[in-house]
Amino acid sequence: MAVDLHLHSTASDGTLSPAEIIAKAHEINLTAIALTDHDSLAGIREALDASIKLSLTFVPGLEMSSEYGDRDIHILGYFIDYTQPHLTETLAGLRVARVNRARTMVERLAGLGLEIDFAEVEQCAHGGAMGRPHVAQILVKHGLVTDISEAFARFIGRGGPAYASKHVLTTAQIIELIHRAGGVASLAHPGVSRVDEPLLRVLKDGGLDAVEVWHTDHTLEQTRYFKQLAFELDLMVTGGSDCHGFGKSRGFVLGSLGIPDEIIEPLRTRAGAYKVR
Ligand code: AMP
Ligand code: ZN
Ligand code: FE
Ligand code: FE
Repeated sequence: MAVDLHLHSTASDGTLSPAEIIAKAHEINLTAIALTDHDSLAGIREALDASIKLSLTFVPGLEMSSEYGDRDIHILGYFIDYTQPHLTETLAGLRVARVNRARTMVERLAGLGLEIDFAEVEQCAHGGAMGRPHVAQILVKHGLVTDISEAFARFIGRGGPAYASKHVLTTAQIIELIHRAGGVASLAHPGVSRVDEPLLRVLKDGGLDAVEVWHTDHTLEQTRYFKQLAFELDLMVTGGSDCHGFGKSRGFVLGSLGIPDEIIEPLRTRAGAYKVR
């Protein structure tokens, strides 16, 4: 009885549509999945519709980015009201910031002699939340780098010569936004974000509900470590593959972590408590 609570669709930088993700998840017998596109809820309706006749629980979610010092901090929201105007309007603003940021990166790349057309990046994102993977794909397409990893390592990774920051909200603001939309907030891939106990305590004080213990890029030791830390700090646990579909650097990892479905109900219960406030 496995679940996967961290997935990206074409509504952001994934390659599968929400309906295709639901179909794949059903095919491999997952009991619940969440869609967690970056700064976008545009895939939720389609995923809900696709899941309705299946024995598959669909959890509306999203992933938002922030930073703490030099660390990229990503916060996942679950069981959110995906129609709440305050949330949808805030996200629309963040997506505009993403487009402007991609434009800046394209300009910086040109300054480095890597000429790509911004219109191609736009086309690649086809209306979804625009991100660095879209810029990277166009660099690959024109043979300016050999693969997406090289694009990040040499040019658009944090601190790279063409990197531009997009972070506008603090972690506390993101958690508050998720709570106000009746959702629970979980810290995404803490192992990747180099989160330690002091920072986790700060986030918990900011209202964080849960920690993503299972993640494709976590080692077994990291999974154990964050599970223990979550227990000590009285945080719930979540997990997901962070699958972006096919052809991305990490490969197709949907449902690969065997995450137990017992994590779902505590999240739902906590979200229910936020909804009635
Ligand atoms: P953005 O939201 O525009 O900052 O882009 C972040 C996304 O880029 C992540 O969600 C990953 O999908 C992808 N990404 C981040 N770092 C790398 C990397 N080193 N190699 C490949 N993809 C990456
Ligand atoms: Zn992504
Ligand atoms: Fe992330
Ligand atoms: Fe993600």
